[in-house]
Amino acid sequence: MKTFIPFVLLAVLVAAVHAEDRRIDPRLWFASSAAEATDRTTLLTDVAALPVLDTPAPGALLDYLHKAERLQARVQRHAAWLHLRTAQDIDDHAAAEARRAVGDAGDTVVERTRQTLRTIGEDGFAKDVAALPALARYHWLLERAVRALPHELPDAQQSILDTLSDQDSQTFWNIYQKTRRATAYGHVHTSQGDLDVGKDADKLASDPDRGVREQAWKLRQDALAAQEETYASILVGIVRLNDRVAKLQHFNDAPEAAYFARLFTRADVDATAKAVEAHAPLLQAYQRLRAEHVAHALGIEQAHSWDLAMPTSGFEPPAFDDMQMRRVIPEALAPLGRDYVAHFRALLDPANKRTDLATVQGTREDDAFSLAAPGSPGALFLGVWKPTVKEASVVAHEGGHAIHSQLMDERGVSPFFNHGPSWMHEAIAILNEMLFYEYLYRHTDDPAAKAYYLQAQLDEMTFEIFTSAEEAQWEEGIYDGVVAGKIRGAADMDALTLDITRRFEIWPSIDPSLAHAWIGKRLMFEDPLYLANYLYAGLWATRMFDMARKDPADFQKRYAALMAEGFDAAPDQLLARFFGKPMTPPDLVDADMAVIQEKVDALAQLYRRLPGPPSSQR
Ligand SMILES: [Zn+2]
Repeated sequence: MKTFIPFVLLAVLVAAVHAEDRRIDPRLWFASSAAEATDRTTLLTDVAALPVLDTPAPGALLDYLHKAERLQARVQRHAAWLHLRTAQDIDDHAAAEARRAVGDAGDTVVERTRQTLRTIGEDGFAKDVAALPALARYHWLLERAVRALPHELPDAQQSILDTLSDQDSQTFWNIYQKTRRATAYGHVHTSQGDLDVGKDADKLASDPDRGVREQAWKLRQDALAAQEETYASILVGIVRLNDRVAKLQHFNDAPEAAYFARLFTRADVDATAKAVEAHAPLLQAYQRLRAEHVAHALGIEQAHSWDLAMPTSGFEPPAFDDMQMRRVIPEALAPLGRDYVAHFRALLDPANKRTDLATVQGTREDDAFSLAAPGSPGALFLGVWKPTVKEASVVAHEGGHAIHSQLMDERGVSPFFNHGPSWMHEAIAILNEMLFYEYLYRHTDDPAAKAYYLQAQLDEMTFEIFTSAEEAQWEEGIYDGVVAGKIRGAADMDALTLDITRRFEIWPSIDPSLAHAWIGKRLMFEDPLYLANYLYAGLWATRMFDMARKDPADFQKRYAALMAEGFDAAPDQLLARFFGKPMTPPDLVDADMAVIQEKVDALAQLYRRLPGPPSSQR
């Protein structure tokens, strides 16, 4: 850290170095395509042959669980191989088909194991554990099997329900995407010529002419609003479908069903979102600080939504190339411990062929994600890589998923327990992004650069925590309103949006066309009721961030234990182990607010050190 070279200088030194396209060596998982295909055929046969046992003896049960575990590990190896294939070529339909088959095989292994455990039951299992203690580690499998029982339908009914609801969900999502793509946003006349409000949105948002920015922003809102009855019918359709499916599976409503699958309850989500809402004045103070800074820098009275993308701190982040990424990210993750850092360096080292990146998209998937399977180190796929700070934060995040999986595997976590609730995985990855921005913020003396990185970090924290709390209330409000017959069309969606977002933020009162913001909430259309996950992830990540920077030695012990244990219990138990005492998401709120407050105060101080507006600025 002492040898840190300022970014601007480093950018000059390495400006000539471009990232070379890199490919993951798929022999991480299989020797060849032929070997993968042959083993896949055997695997599918082996899974089909896995029986459901009727009250086996303890020894037979343990053998059975080990066998199911080995099948699950093989499923995960094939899934990694095939995911890489489909990501490198989205037109590889054979690989996509094979990937679905392998996914179904994984579901079959879980389902048959659950049925076997149910034949034994809680009492029987307790006796088996007394006779054979090695069985104890599988208790969470039984708990999950028993927990799901009241909501399971007979196979034939479940199959009809799944087929119809999957098809309808996909159709709604397709219509949403097509409507968005068909939107004609119009053009704005600028000093660089006529620009398209859709395609050139970024350019227009930072155009120095304020009139251009305002016109572009308003045309965009108008274009979305022109189709708002279409979007409203899609969303109402999604709500009715999910409500119906939830009730057929004996849930009270769709939120309860969606949260059940992710191991939290509607009462938790509501209490957590309310606890965050009670601190909305802090978010508003942050937004006001940003607004006043923008207004000051631009020499205007009141900032509006169309002014917010203007660069104001006098700092443009330099290109963040491949070499810098490989050096800075592991250093930034030092609070996680030397072993973690060594793992991350190895992931990014080109010699190890575990990172897949390209500078041209071609037929590559437009996404970034990790790939991992038992018995092999983690790998990282980056669809199209650009040398920016933002992209480097994505590497810190997705690489975090890869190393998490790898560490669980190295510590012997069962393939049954290497996947937990998504919010827990996400918290672990989001922590890396927070540490990355903290490092950049700490390792520069330029107040403008400091302000830039601190804003990026605060945006991340407030977005995950406040925006997700707002979205959780908003989406539940839409479900409740539609089911009660109170929300029928776009005007009702708009009214609900303003009602909820005004409780959290300053912008909907300044720019009331933000009432249409529900149209842009893609996840409400693509993955209904998923947004609440980020609330939990953000709360835990921010807490971990604060612990890691204040007492890294203590944090590293807890973190290493977390990496080693996997998801072999309910989330409240996992959190209790990590913290050494019971801890619920609402418990985390107060501590996290202190971190955000401290960061907002630091930003206000930095803004005071920045120069005033240039006299020629309009
Ligand atoms: Zn993630």
